[in-house]
Amino acid sequence: MSKPVRVRFAPSPTGPLHIGGVRTALYNYLFAKKQGGTFILRIEDTDQTRYIKGAEEYIQEALKWSGIVPDEGPEKGGDYGPYRQSDRKAGYGKFVQQLIDEDKAYYAFDSAEELTEMREQAKKAKMPNWQYNSITRNSMKNSLTLSKDEVQAKLDANEPYAVRIKIPRNEEVRFHDTIRGWIVVNTSNLDDKVIFKSDGMPTYHMANVIDDYNMKISHVIRGEEWLPSAPLHVLLYRFLGWEDAMPEFAHLPLILKPDGNGKLSKRDGDRLGFPVFPINWKNPETGETASGYREQGYFPEAFTNMLAFLGWNPGSDQEIYPLQDLIDAFSLERVGKAGAKFDAKKTVWFNEQYLKNTENKKLAELLVPVLKEQEIEFNTAQLPSICGLLKERASFLTEMVQNGLYFFKAPNEYDEKTINKKWKENAPHIVEDLKAAFSRTDYTAQSLKEAFETYLAQNELSFGKAGPVLRVAITGSGMGPSLYDICAILGQKEVESRINKALKELP
Ligand code: GLU
Repeated sequence: MSKPVRVRFAPSPTGPLHIGGVRTALYNYLFAKKQGGTFILRIEDTDQTRYIKGAEEYIQEALKWSGIVPDEGPEKGGDYGPYRQSDRKAGYGKFVQQLIDEDKAYYAFDSAEELTEMREQAKKAKMPNWQYNSITRNSMKNSLTLSKDEVQAKLDANEPYAVRIKIPRNEEVRFHDTIRGWIVVNTSNLDDKVIFKSDGMPTYHMANVIDDYNMKISHVIRGEEWLPSAPLHVLLYRFLGWEDAMPEFAHLPLILKPDGNGKLSKRDGDRLGFPVFPINWKNPETGETASGYREQGYFPEAFTNMLAFLGWNPGSDQEIYPLQDLIDAFSLERVGKAGAKFDAKKTVWFNEQYLKNTENKKLAELLVPVLKEQEIEFNTAQLPSICGLLKERASFLTEMVQNGLYFFKAPNEYDEKTINKKWKENAPHIVEDLKAAFSRTDYTAQSLKEAFETYLAQNELSFGKAGPVLRVAITGSGMGPSLYDICAILGQKEVESRINKALKELP
């Protein structure tokens, strides 16, 4: 019987989550939900020197906004907790001790200065990539070269140390990656990584493997940058006697800059003209804010839809996949190996599609806080129809408001081009006539249209002569949605007062 699907997203709280991190969380989540499994959030905070205040809260909030809700995690709890590695500190030491006792790891007492010195010397000798490994360890200060008593004396004197994994020489490590197939690495290419430090904390590699084992993780789905660490993790499983319980690996492709030139990074901030963070991030040190998709007005589902397509495709032409549809369609087999270029235009396009597909009533609800924030007065009953008209020509809610201010207040400025080209001819006369013609209707869009067309026919006027001037008088703008719809929403009293105002203010 195959084991239950349990996957984890394991970010380190060393700063804000970048959209690549959110995509990793998303793929884990989609995979878990599709398989009826469990999605776990684990905070990997063993490296206290890189800890950034507020980062964990940021991660939780960003996931919540994106709709990627963990089944187990620091907030939710669960049977395999605690879900923050610093809270699991006491549980790691015995495994480290086991590796030392079985000669699979060793104490190293070399200071940072001594290690730098070694690297410098190697560089001078034209061997730039010095590593602490199966060869060099024999000439370093560690429990393999020092006597038992010397080692004990150092430990008793509380000398700082690191525990390093003892990588075997010239052995093959083989493992399967769902996305990349079989991977074979020779251990001669691996170094003796530090797995534990004398501050009592394991390093990422050790804590990660122990926790994946203890939390019964079935699949490790993470970014490609962790692929070089995977052979070490496989060895740790082997050394700890857990090979049978080893999870399946899947290393996701990189998200690239729009020009394909390198990885899209946190440092790209707003530099490329689009956010790289899910929600605003205020740097606690500099106070600077980098923008996020939430604050830019994206729908969470447009955001996750866009992210899902950076590396995965459903194998059809369909592109609109709200979260539940993504769950139904997702499989790791359809995740590619090649880096996925970020496409800013396409990202806006996704939001546009969600805007158009959202019901007018729902949009009206979402618009209320935007209008309130901008201190714009509105009539709640009119909002759904206004949204219906404005959503066809906008990508964001805020853009709808910008484009449709005339629904909420009479214009004070009028589109100059229309005024200069059209109004000055005989517009005042035309809008007067139309005001009168409209007043004889019931002011529904249909009857306004008929009255308008009848007027054109009777006076042998083209639409171009009358339409734009009436529009500019009522909305101030040279273009927009159907004028009959606009007039029907505004109502007779407002339309007439606007025409009167324009007649007074315009030349
Ligand atoms: N803590 C690692 C990170 O920050 C987790 C990598 C993994 O998923 O194994 O990305």
